[in-house]
Amino acid sequence: MEILITCNSSHPRREFVLQSCSGVLSDLLGSQFDEPATVDTKFVVLIDDDPKIPNWMRVHGMRETLWKHGFGVDVAGGDVSVVATLASGLQDIVIEMFRTTVPRCPGHPHPLAVVARDTAEWQCPQDARHFRCPVGAYPQQTG
Ligand SMILES: [Zn+2]
Repeated sequence: MEILITCNSSHPRREFVLQSCSGVLSDLLGSQFDEPATVDTKFVVLIDDDPKIPNWMRVHGMRETLWKHGFGVDVAGGDVSVVATLASGLQDIVIEMFRTTVPRCPGHPHPLAVVARDTAEWQCPQDARHFRCPVGAYPQQTG
């Protein structure tokens, strides 16, 4: 699968948002969609500034032209808050568009939930002691 991130924002936080989106998408789509059968699938993420609200970026995901979902993020917020918002919003989009469970909670049938602590983390929605890891560092299965 091809993943494209297009950012039309000129905000000073642009690079941080881009890097954060890239880490989140790697967690969500890193190993799941490498099969040849889906190689022609293209997933596009568009980021731009909201023209009316200062420090507000809009994030849209598109799989095909008919599929389009978006959410907003207050980029003037703290890093943890921005990353948690991006992770949660992109997770919703990917789960809905691909009807998949990502990032999957190891050993459980549900996806991980986003929690904002000292950093933004993925954790088991039932028991944080079962599994948790920083957003952007979800361990990918190989082979
Ligand atoms: Zn779990």
